[in-house]
Amino acid sequence: MDFKFTDEQEFFRASVRDAVDRLIRPKIQEIDEADDFPMELWKEFAQLGYLGLRHPEQYGGLESDVITSMIFYEELARGSCGFAMSVTMQILMGTYFIGRFANEEIKQRVLVPAIKGEKIGTICFTEDQSGSDLAGTRTTAVKRDNGWLINGRKMWITNGPICDFCTVLATVDPSKGLDGLSFFLVEKGTDGFSCGQLIHKLGSHGSVTGELIFDNVFVPDENLLGEGAGNGMKYTTDILNEVRVMTALMACAIADEAIIDARKFAQQRVAFGSAISKYQLIRAKFANHWAWYEAARLLAYKAAWMIQEGIECQYECMLAKMFATEMCLSAVDEATRIYGGNSFAMEYPPQRFFRDARFLLFGGGCHEVLQNAIGAAFLRRGSTSK
Ligand SMILES: Cc1cc2nc3c(=O)[nH]c(=O)nc-3n(C[C@H](O)[C@H](O)[C@H](O)COP(=O)(O)OP(=O)(O)OC[C@H]3O[C@@H](n4cnc5c(N)ncnc54)[C@H](O)[C@@H]3O)c2cc1C
Repeated sequence: MDFKFTDEQEFFRASVRDAVDRLIRPKIQEIDEADDFPMELWKEFAQLGYLGLRHPEQYGGLESDVITSMIFYEELARGSCGFAMSVTMQILMGTYFIGRFANEEIKQRVLVPAIKGEKIGTICFTEDQSGSDLAGTRTTAVKRDNGWLINGRKMWITNGPICDFCTVLATVDPSKGLDGLSFFLVEKGTDGFSCGQLIHKLGSHGSVTGELIFDNVFVPDENLLGEGAGNGMKYTTDILNEVRVMTALMACAIADEAIIDARKFAQQRVAFGSAISKYQLIRAKFANHWAWYEAARLLAYKAAWMIQEGIECQYECMLAKMFATEMCLSAVDEATRIYGGNSFAMEYPPQRFFRDARFLLFGGGCHEVLQNAIGAAFLRRGSTSK
């Protein structure tokens, strides 16, 4: 076994950390308070090439391996969580189906500018009445001559209010549930495509979120992303695996930032004649975090390694996401306890970690939904690990 990153990966981590330290961290509070999309920062990040992390070099991408991309997400989440959400949306879900299925002309028109940061993308699964249960998708795509007519509304779309293009999940046959779903590319400026209400979020400020409306939106045949209508869901496993491990590593980063910040506070705060870091009950919080953080991070990087090696790892990715998310929620809670009453003041960081961490629960699969799937898989197995 080898638990080491390669020299190249360590070098890459150091360069991302440097960019996050220089460009994002000085602005974290400003971004959180403004709750607006930081366009200048977006452009700076795009110039560094990170938006093409997983895409081929021929389109301007970095063509990174899976573990290197996970290093990027982990380091990025040490800055603004909201900005990290927007960036990861662009790199992963926002451009994935275009990179995998679009024809050359669409790739030149959409993917190349997206990698340069000149166009912003997103993915639209969620609707008012369907989140975890995608079989409940009501957005329809009806076949017309040379294309498809899309009707419906999508909710909770990261980058939605500022997107130049989106990949939309729609049903081509509502009677078939999951087997009737397909992905379609819709670009800004297409008749009938508009932005609806903005959603004001509890945390992850800096990414803009809202509703997208498709009112008789016509797209040509080549905008169907994937082979054959109704085959969309079979293409989601690979990308969901990456999204889950990415979310797990973002959770590790947020948790660690919160606890490191709380450590500084504990070493300075005096109660009953000594720094509170001297008290065993406070030390226990750091000890527990250390153990759970290491375990969560190992699980996440093991899952990343399995993806990279092409080993079947759907459940390992779910485990990583589920465990790291709960670890993070516990860590941000403990950080607020260490800060005491000051954790309730907006000028101290714990409230931001506490708010930001909540989004981790939903993206990439709600905890309960993952538990259902993991539990069912466990019951089918002969032993825990096989
Ligand atoms: C900040 C943020 C950004 C987002 N960005 C995007 C985006 O860009 N694109 C997009 O498409 N979506 C996005 N989403 C939506 C997200 O994907 C959904 O919130 C998620 O899929 C869960 O769906 P839901 O919120 O409708 O909850 P529901 O699916 O309605 O679930 C509600 C509750 O019921 C539980 N539950 C559901 N089914 C079961 C079951 N079978 N057994 C037990 N419990 C169950 C869930 O665990 C949860 O606790 C975003 C959400 C947030 C918060």
